[in-house]
Amino acid sequence: MALLPILTAPDPRLKKKAKPVEKVDDGVRKLMADMLETMYAAPGVGLAAPQVGVSLRAIVLDVAREGEPPAPMKLVNPEIVWASDDDASYEEGCLSVPEHYAEVVRPRAVKVRYRDESGAAREIAAEGLLATCLQHEIDHLDGILFLDHLSALKRNMILRKLLKEKKAAERGDEKDAKDEHGDSPLHTL
Ligand SMILES: [Zn+2]
Repeated sequence: MALLPILTAPDPRLKKKAKPVEKVDDGVRKLMADMLETMYAAPGVGLAAPQVGVSLRAIVLDVAREGEPPAPMKLVNPEIVWASDDDASYEEGCLSVPEHYAEVVRPRAVKVRYRDESGAAREIAAEGLLATCLQHEIDHLDGILFLDHLSALKRNMILRKLLKEKKAAERGDEKDAKDEHGDSPLHTL
């Protein structure tokens, strides 16, 4: 297994629609194993293939709470087949939008159809953090970031800051690169 570099916004590769996986083969299994390792190391609770620069519809997540046994999930070609009419709001973060968090409103519960590691068709019903995480990761496959659910004003403010931090980091200017940390991460998806 290997740690993969995580792309951060703004990056055009994060805005692309990812291609369906045609066959769940060893390459896809290795990708998802590496993605899980990368996600745990970050740390985060979800990661989508486009975030590591691979334009394929594959996501991994683990929403187990601290103290609970790990519950890794690997989903190929996930697709929301049902969403509840009622919404829930969560403070979301994203490994591709480091240090920024915002309340995002999404359907409270969803059903997701996908293929597992062996290529078998499966369906999962989810609510709470798992439903939020699934929707956040599936968004990544369509080139959508949680920022895209915010007002243009807020989104542009965060994107400008990220760009500034990126440029500062490229210059090796640690002080500028690390201004204004938000609150400690809740859920970095
Ligand atoms: Zn994310």
